[in-house]
Amino acid sequence: MRNFQADDDSILRQAMFDHLDRCLAGAQAEFLSSRVINTFEIQGQPIRLIVQSGIRKVQGHPGALTIRTTYTPPSAVPPYIDDVGSNGLVRYKYRGQDEGHSDNRALRHAMETGLPLAYFVGIAPGIYLPIYPVYVEAEDQSRHEFAIAVDQYLHGHDLDSIDTFQREYRTSVTKARLHQPSFRARVLHAYNSTCTICRLHHAELLDAAHILPDSHPQGLPIVPNALTLCKLHHAAFDRNLLGIRPDFVVEVKPELLREIDGPMLQHGLKEMNGTQLVLPKERASRPDRARLLERYEEFRSTK
Ligand SMILES: [Zn+2]
Repeated sequence: MRNFQADDDSILRQAMFDHLDRCLAGAQAEFLSSRVINTFEIQGQPIRLIVQSGIRKVQGHPGALTIRTTYTPPSAVPPYIDDVGSNGLVRYKYRGQDEGHSDNRALRHAMETGLPLAYFVGIAPGIYLPIYPVYVEAEDQSRHEFAIAVDQYLHGHDLDSIDTFQREYRTSVTKARLHQPSFRARVLHAYNSTCTICRLHHAELLDAAHILPDSHPQGLPIVPNALTLCKLHHAAFDRNLLGIRPDFVVEVKPELLREIDGPMLQHGLKEMNGTQLVLPKERASRPDRARLLERYEEFRSTK
C-alpha cells in the first residue's frame, strides 16, 4: 500500500463523493450519522470527513475538503436560512476573525482552484445532511465570510452581475438544495422517519408538512411547526379531509366517515379517526399546540 499523495486530490474528492453516495444508498433517509460519514477510507487509509473544526483539511492537500454547520435546536430557524447573501449564495463564516488562519486559507485555495467540497449540515446532534458537490465561490473579507454555491449549477457564475433574474435563480436553487432538504431532514429525523398518523416508516413516502404555511407569519421552517406525514395523510391534511386537534387527536371529516368505499378509505382514513398522533420522543420537537389549534379551527370551519 502506498501513501496517499497530494497530487491525488481529484481522486480523493471523487472517492469521498462515491463514499457518500454509497452511505446514502444504504440509509433509510437523506441524512447520515457522523459515525457513518467518518467510515471513509481511501487506499486503506481512513480519513475522517467530520472533525471538531467546521472546516476539514487533509494533510498534503491545500484546499479544504469538507465544511460543516452545527445543528440548531428544533424550535430555532437555522442561521443559513436567514443568511443567504445578496448574490443568492449561502454565507459561510471564517474560522475566527483571522483571514490568514490555516482553515480560511484552505477555503480560499478551494475557491481559487474551483475544487468541489462536501457540505455537512447539522440537523440533530451527530446527524448531518450531506450536500455535494459544493463550491466556494467568493470571499467577503469585510464580513469575514465566504459565499458557498450549494449546487454545481451555481458554480462559476458572475456574482458581480446586477442581473435580478440571475440572483433570483441562485436564491431559488439555494432554497431547493439547502433550505427545503434541511427542513425535511430535521422533521423526518425528529419523527424517526414515521408518519405521525399511520406510522408508515418509508422515507420515500413521507413529507415534512407545515402546520401553518410559509405565507403565515407563524409559518416558520421549524420542527414544532411541522409534522411528518405520509403522502396520503399530507394531502388529506392540506385539503381538510382530516384535522389534528391541539391534544394530538386525529379527526376525519364527518362526510368521509359516512362514505363506503374500498380498503384505502376504510383503513387509511376512516380508522384514523380518534387516534392519537405518534409524537417525537424529544419534547422540543413536538407540534406546537397553538399552531395546531389555529390550523384545526380552519379544518372545523370547512366542515
Ligand atoms: Zn400516514
